[in-house]
Amino acid sequence: MSTESIEEFKIEVRSFIEANLAPELRVGNRKDLPKKQLGKWIQALGARGWITPEWPKEYGGGGLDRKHAAAMKGEFKAVRAPMVSSFGTSMLGPTLLQFGTDEQKLEFLPAISKHEVKWCQGYSEPGAGSDLASLQTRAVLEGDEYVVTGQKIWTTGADKADWIFCLVRTDPEASKHDGISFILFPMHQDGVEVSPLNLIDGTAEFSQVFFDGARAQAKHVVGPVNGGWTVAKRLLQHERSTDGGSEGGLSGAQKESYVDVVKREVGLENGVLADPVLRQRLAAQEQEAKALSLTMRRAGEEARAGQTARDIGSLGKFKWANMVKSEQDIVMLAHGTQGLGWEGPGFEQTELERTRAWLTTRADSIWGGTNEIQMNVIAKRVLQIPE
Ligand SMILES: Cc1cc2nc3c(=O)[nH]c(=O)nc-3n(C[C@H](O)[C@H](O)[C@H](O)COP(=O)(O)OP(=O)(O)OC[C@H]3O[C@@H](n4cnc5c(N)ncnc54)[C@H](O)[C@@H]3O)c2cc1C
Repeated sequence: MSTESIEEFKIEVRSFIEANLAPELRVGNRKDLPKKQLGKWIQALGARGWITPEWPKEYGGGGLDRKHAAAMKGEFKAVRAPMVSSFGTSMLGPTLLQFGTDEQKLEFLPAISKHEVKWCQGYSEPGAGSDLASLQTRAVLEGDEYVVTGQKIWTTGADKADWIFCLVRTDPEASKHDGISFILFPMHQDGVEVSPLNLIDGTAEFSQVFFDGARAQAKHVVGPVNGGWTVAKRLLQHERSTDGGSEGGLSGAQKESYVDVVKREVGLENGVLADPVLRQRLAAQEQEAKALSLTMRRAGEEARAGQTARDIGSLGKFKWANMVKSEQDIVMLAHGTQGLGWEGPGFEQTELERTRAWLTTRADSIWGGTNEIQMNVIAKRVLQIPE
C-alpha cells in the first residue's frame, strides 16, 4: 500500500525519470528507439516494479494503489516515456494473479514484471477463431507431463516468444466448453515448429504454430484441469480492456498525433483546418474519443464499486477498434493520392509508412474477437438482451 502523498510521489517519479530516461527516448513508443538506452530504461523500470506498478511487490510489482499508479503513468506520459506492455503484463499476469497457484505466481510473475520472458497466446486454430471452444489441439497426460499435438494460427510474436499460454483439449469426451485446459509451456523445444505468416501491411508479426509431441509440465496447468474455459474467458476480458482501454486513449505517446498530421497535410485557414469536410470529421472523431474516454473511466469506477458487468471491456474494444480505423481513414484522406503509395520514387518514406499503418489498423476489429463477436457479447452480457 502506498503511504506517500500523491504530490510527494510525483516528485519521486520525476527524479526517477531524470536519473534513468535518456533524452532520445522521450518520443514515445517507436520502433526505432536506440536499443541500448531502451534496454537500460526497461531494466530500471523492472527493478523498481514499475512495469507492473499495481502488482504485489512479492511478484516483482510496484505495490502501488490505483491512484499512485495513475500518477506515475501521468508523469511518464508527460515526458513521452516509452512504456512496456506485453502479453505477459497485460493478459497472462493478471490472469495468473487471479487463477494461479502460489508456486505458479512465484515462478512466472517476477520475470514478466521485469520484461525478461516473452510470451505468446495460443488460442486460435484454423477451425476455431470466433468459435474458440471448438479448438482441437490435444494434450494427453503422460506421467507428470502433458504431450501436446495440434496447430495454432495467428499467434502474434510466436517466432520471438520464449513461452506460450495455450488452450488445449484435455478431455475430448466432454462437452466442448468443459474439456479445455489452460496450460503454459516453453516454445524452444522439439515438437514446436513456428511458421511466420505474411500480412497485408508487409510485416510478418504472427505465425502458424505446429505442436508434434511438445511437452508441458502438468504443474503448469492454470486453474482446474478441464476447467480452462473460465480462465481463457477472463484472459480475453483483460485482452479486450488493453486497448479499448480503461483510459480510452487512442494514439498514446506517438511522435506526432494524427491531428497534427492532418493539420500539416491540409493546412490551416484563419486558424481552422482548410478543408471543411475533414474539419467536420476531425471534430466528430475527437468528440467520440472524449466520449469513449469518459465512458470507460465511468465504467472503470462502476466496476470497482461492483456495479458494472465485467464484459464492459467488449464495449470499449468495439468502439476503440472502429475509432482507430476511422482515425487512420482521416489521415489517408488528408494525404489524398499520396496516401496510396506502396513503393517507388513518387512517395516519401513517411507516406509509405502511413499506407502500412492504415492497413495495420484493419486488423483491430479482428484480434481479441471480431467486432461482430464483441456486439454479441455486448448484447448478451452488458445489455442482457435475451437470445
Ligand atoms: C492482428 C491479429 C493478431 C492476432 N493475434 C492472435 C494471437 O496472438 N493468438 C491467437 O490465438 N489469435 C490471434 N488472432 C486471431 C484472432 O483472435 C481471430 O482472427 C479472431 O478471433 C477471429 O477468428 P477467425 O479469424 O477464425 O475468423 P472467423 O471466426 O472464421 O470469422 C469470420 C467472420 O465471421 C464472423 N462471425 C463468426 N462467428 C460469428 C457469429 N457468431 N456472429 C456473427 N458473426 C460471426 C466474424 O465476425 C468474421 O467476420 C489475431 C488476429 C489478428 C487480426
